[in-house]
Parts: sequence; C-alpha cells; structure tokens
Amino acid sequence: MRSSISLDDSVRYLKGVGPKKAGLLAGLGIITVRDLLNHFPFRVDDFSKVTSIALARPGDEVTVQGTVVALSFVPSQRGRALRVGISDGGHVLHLVWYNTPYVYQNLRKGQMVLASGRVEWRRNGLEMAHPIWRVEDEAVEKGPIVPIYHVTRGLTSSALHKIIGEALGQCLMLLEPDVPRDMLRRLGYLGELEAYRAIHAPQSALEWNKARKTHAFREVLYLQIGLMSMREEVQRSKGPEKFARFRMSDEFVRGLPFRLTGAQKRAIEDLRRDLTSGRVMNRLLQGDVGSGKTVVALYALLTAVENGYQGAFLAPTEVLAEQHRRTIEQLVGTGVACGFLSGSLGAKEKRRTLEGLARGDIQILVGTHAMLEPGVTWGNLGLVVTDEQHRFGVKQRLALTVSSQSFVPHVLVMSATPIPRSLALTLYGDLDISIIDAMPEGRMAPKTSVLAGSKRHLAYKKVMDQLTFGHQAYVVCPVIREGKTSRKAAEIVKDELQAGYLEGARIGLLHGSLPKRQVDETMKQFVAGTIDVLVSTTVVEVGVDVENATCMVVEDADSFGLASLHQLRGRVGRGQAQSYCFLISSSQSPQSLKRLLALERTSDGFQVAELDLEQRGPGQFFGSRQSGESETRLSNLSLSLETLQEAREQARLTVCRVSEGLGTPADLGLLNRVKNKYGDSFAAYSMSR
Ligand code: ADP
Ligand code: MG
Repeated sequence: MRSSISLDDSVRYLKGVGPKKAGLLAGLGIITVRDLLNHFPFRVDDFSKVTSIALARPGDEVTVQGTVVALSFVPSQRGRALRVGISDGGHVLHLVWYNTPYVYQNLRKGQMVLASGRVEWRRNGLEMAHPIWRVEDEAVEKGPIVPIYHVTRGLTSSALHKIIGEALGQCLMLLEPDVPRDMLRRLGYLGELEAYRAIHAPQSALEWNKARKTHAFREVLYLQIGLMSMREEVQRSKGPEKFARFRMSDEFVRGLPFRLTGAQKRAIEDLRRDLTSGRVMNRLLQGDVGSGKTVVALYALLTAVENGYQGAFLAPTEVLAEQHRRTIEQLVGTGVACGFLSGSLGAKEKRRTLEGLARGDIQILVGTHAMLEPGVTWGNLGLVVTDEQHRFGVKQRLALTVSSQSFVPHVLVMSATPIPRSLALTLYGDLDISIIDAMPEGRMAPKTSVLAGSKRHLAYKKVMDQLTFGHQAYVVCPVIREGKTSRKAAEIVKDELQAGYLEGARIGLLHGSLPKRQVDETMKQFVAGTIDVLVSTTVVEVGVDVENATCMVVEDADSFGLASLHQLRGRVGRGQAQSYCFLISSSQSPQSLKRLLALERTSDGFQVAELDLEQRGPGQFFGSRQSGESETRLSNLSLSLETLQEAREQARLTVCRVSEGLGTPADLGLLNRVKNKYGDSFAAYSMSR
C-alpha cells in the first residue's frame, strides 16, 4: 500500500476510487489528483436559511423544508407538469416541474425534501416552479451549502464531491501557491490553498463566491502575464526583411470576382503598414462570419511569397484546411506553389511535402495542427496566418513562430468571434487589431425566430420545405447524450427526427466524441451534399462554408451564450438564398427569452457581443482567446470586469518591474512559473531571437 499520494498521481490511488470511477472521471478530463482539485463546482445550492412555508410570500426567493404529501401529473400548456405537494406544520406548498421526468423517479411520499426557489401564487395555491431541491436522507449528513459539479452518467455530483473531499484532505497541503500571497491579500482575495478548500467545501455562499473570484483572478493573471511577456519577446525579436513588393497581391485583388468592402481594404492597409514597418507583425483580424477574412489572409500570404518568403495558413480542422486550399486554387490559381499538410496524409505524400517545404519549393503551406509537429522544417517562413484562432491555445500559436530560423515570422490571427470593444485590449493585449465590421454587399442576414418547445414542428416543417428546394440544414443540440438534465441530446434528436419530422431525409450525426476520421467523413459528405441534415453539437461552430445550407434549428437555445448562437447562425446565410434560423427554447424564464429575442432583432456580431458581456460577464470571451479549457473555467468562475481589470493591471506591473530589472523574488518566481506553464515554446522563442 502506498503511504502517501502526490498531486500528479492518478486518481486511482484515492480512497473510494476504483477502476470504474477512474474511467468515469477520465471521461471528464480528470486523470490526476491535481485535475480533480481543479474541477470546480459550477454552482452551490444554498440551503442554509430555511423558511417555514407559512411565512413564504409570493415573489420571495426562499428555501423550504417539508414532507412529500402528494405527487401527481397534470396536463398544462407547457407540457406535462409534475406537481409535488410538500407540507410543514400543516401548510402545503406545491413544487412544480414541467417535462422533467427524472424528478419523479427520485421522489416518494413521506420523504423529507428541501427546495429553494421563487414562490408564486397560482390558481391552486402556493407554487414553486423548477426549484433547486434535494431529498434529506438521515443516513447521509449534508452541509447546508452544496457544491454542484458537472458530471457524467454513472457519477453523481455528490459522489464526485465526496471523492474531491478525499483529495482535499490528503493533498491540499501539497499544492504550491502560484501567486504571491501579498498580492492576493492586498486585493482582498483568499490565499490560494484557502481558495481551493473554499471552492469545494465552502462554509457559506459568500465564501464560495470569494473563492471563485480568487481563482478567476489567478487564471487571468496567468494568461495576461503570458501574453504580455510574449508581446515583449516579439517586439524584441528580429523579423523578416521589410516587405517591398506588392505587385502580385494587388493584382490578385484586381482579379477577384468581386470588389473588396471598405472594411476589407482598411484591414489590408493595416497589415501593409505592419509588413513595411520593419517590426514583426502581430495582428488580429476580427470580423463576423462571412465578412470575408479569407481574401485578406490570402493577400498577406501572397505578399510574403512575392517578397521571397514562405507563408503558412493554419486551420483548426481538416475540412476547413481543405476549403482554404480550394479557395486558393480558385482565386490564386497555379502561379503560386501551394502545399497541403494534415494528419490524414499518407506517409509518402507527407514526406514529399516536408521535403518541398524544407527546400523552399512550397511557397504557401495550408494545413492543420500537423504543421506544428516537430520535424516540419521551413526554408524561409515569413508569415503565419491562423484561422479561427480560438481553436488554438497560446502554446500552439507559439509553436509555429518557433523554428530553426534566425528570425521570427509575421503573424496574422483571424477570429470570427466579435469581442466587445471594452474587452479587446484585455483579451488581445499582445496583438494589434483590425476589424472587418461590414458584410459584402447583397448578403442577406438569416431570418431568426425564437420558438417555444411546443412549436418545434414549425421549425422542422421549414427544414423539410428547404430540403425540397434542394437545400441543406443544421440541427444543433446542447449535449451529446441524454444525461441527468432534460437538455436535448444530439444522438436522440437524430433518431427522433429520422422517425418523425424529417422522415426520409438523409441525416448525419456529428459530435466531439466521435472518432476524428468519422467527423471528417461526415463533414465531407455534408459538404458534398450527400447528407441533407447535419445533427450536431457545437462542433459546427468552426467556419465551415456550405452555401447550400439555408436552415438551422438550435434545440434548447437558452443553454447557449448569445455569442455562440450568433456564431452558429453564421453557418447559414452564406449563399444567395434567404436563410432561416430557429431558436427553440422551453425556458420559463422571461430573462432568457428576452436574451434570445435580441437575436431576432440584430445580426451585428459586435452588438450581440456587448449584450452577452452585459448578461453573462466576460468569462466566456476567454474561450476565444485560449482554447476551450479556460473558457469553461472562467465562465464557471463568473469572472467580472473588475477582476479582469485588476488581474490585467497586476500582470502589467509584474512584467514591467521584471523587464526594468526591479522585479522582486516573488515577481520573478511568478513569471517563471507562467513561462513553465506555457512550456518549451517560451524558451525556444527567446532563443530564436
Ligand atoms: P469569413 O470571414 O467568415 O472567413 P470568408 O472569407 O469565408 O468569410 O468569405 C465568405 C464568402 O464571401 C466567400 O465565398 C468569399 O469569397 C465571399 N466574399 C469575400 N469578400 C467579398 C466581397 N467583398 N464581396 C462579395 N463576396 C465576398
Ligand atoms: Mg473563415
């Protein structure tokens, strides 16, 4: 038996975790004890202040406790409703759930129940709709503040909480604090170890919130220090020679089958200025889906070629990379030697491409992550364009700028996620920004409608109509499989549609747990038109261009952020035909309906982004900065603008002190830990100067 356990040990070594539980945890991305401690609850249920039913007034948000005295299903406008009467001291209140069958399975008469929510006065007396609730079980003692975790089938939140409790008990003291304690204390945050304890086992809701703030601050501080140090490195680096020739790229623009929009022209001017300045370009090109970023990217790549350098065009998926290759064939023609590199390339073809690249025969290389692997040697890489950059982490972005060359390439990253102006500087502190804020002429925004769940059939009728015109459609669902929530699951929706509303249509299924090969294959079929309807999770968000798709249905639209919905909606409306987007929601909350209705009114991504910032805070925008990991973490941590600014300021001060030689040991320690986190890329980057 092992006597002690370390943070990087497998969770298997924790008491109560066998191979089965370890497997379930692995499904959540939890392998080590450290991962476990970093799996934060996304909310806490606060049962600390119980009110007696007699004192509950309509409109109050309260927690009540009572014995189940009645259970019945009643039909209602919103679907089948489960009514559960609970009684304390002779006073009865009804808990009501609509379309939530699993609740019924967990309740029996005589049980003691705690429920929190808003009390309302209805025809049949006092009601509480969709409360937060739990059954009080005398055998298991639970604290009044219950953390709720994202879980997976076979593992409940409370089981996970227990395992985490075990990990906290054994390993909390092993965590090495990252941020100087003084800094945290001065700004009113918890110490780091304290914050780990308090986020998993809070004594009050207030303490839990403080812990979340502390973690959010730390996370942003890390990211900001990383970005700022990188910017410093870039500014100190030697870049390619100044670009002087633009004949070929200007000709390319003149030869396009359309005229550039004013916004595209401005973006091109911005990057020309960078490329002729003698400094290394590090620019973000932001523009809504369909705003025409690709031609701007091609312009930049061609300037690199005609100035004697190679260009890299990096895309997050194989489908997208191939799309870019086709675009280059169509718009640029054969005057430029274009290579392609992706994971699915055969060994022989791959070797040929790598050789061509090293010799400099290939002038533009289009491809996926495969380009970032060791063993890819460039002859003379002068410019890297990264499409949909939010799919790449900072580390990956760095990887390409690190090479055996004696200089670093110019960098252009593109993003279709509009960022509110107030956030841009914070999120993209290391980049200059160009914005394409106008769409090409003649583009028709999708007609967006919010529909109640009971009106779903209308959306699918439209889909069928569009299919008869030869068009295609997307159906987007929030989750892959049915879990403990009633959220629509892609797998089930596909079967249901196949047997019902969309009978006879060729339906494909796409989600992140499918093997990559299958995802690529399905996507190819959709692009080729041999699949009519693609049912998927949000994996379609990435910029695939299927002009023939004119319809999108988003199930349980209220579970997505506005920015994501806008992004999703951008998948349709790419061709000449009018397109349609249906946002289906059975939410009872007026707020979330109001949120969705905003999308009926506006198709401007920046407006949507501002709304989203107002309503959900800045955390979610970090997803567009780093890869997914940080997104879910920071939106779970409900990062506020204030914390964000504080962290940014502290990062700036730390980096400044160090670069002026005034860094304290604590500053230096922090900086080093950040650099370690971003790994070898940093070291190599510094060396390549
Ligand atoms: P995104 O910014 O989402 O990457 P794309 O670059 O894929 O957008 O452009 C979407 C479509 O619009 C492409 O088919 C492209 O050829 C076309 N396009 C780009 N610029 C213009 C323009 N100025 N006028 C008309 N069509 C354009
Ligand atoms: Mg694009």
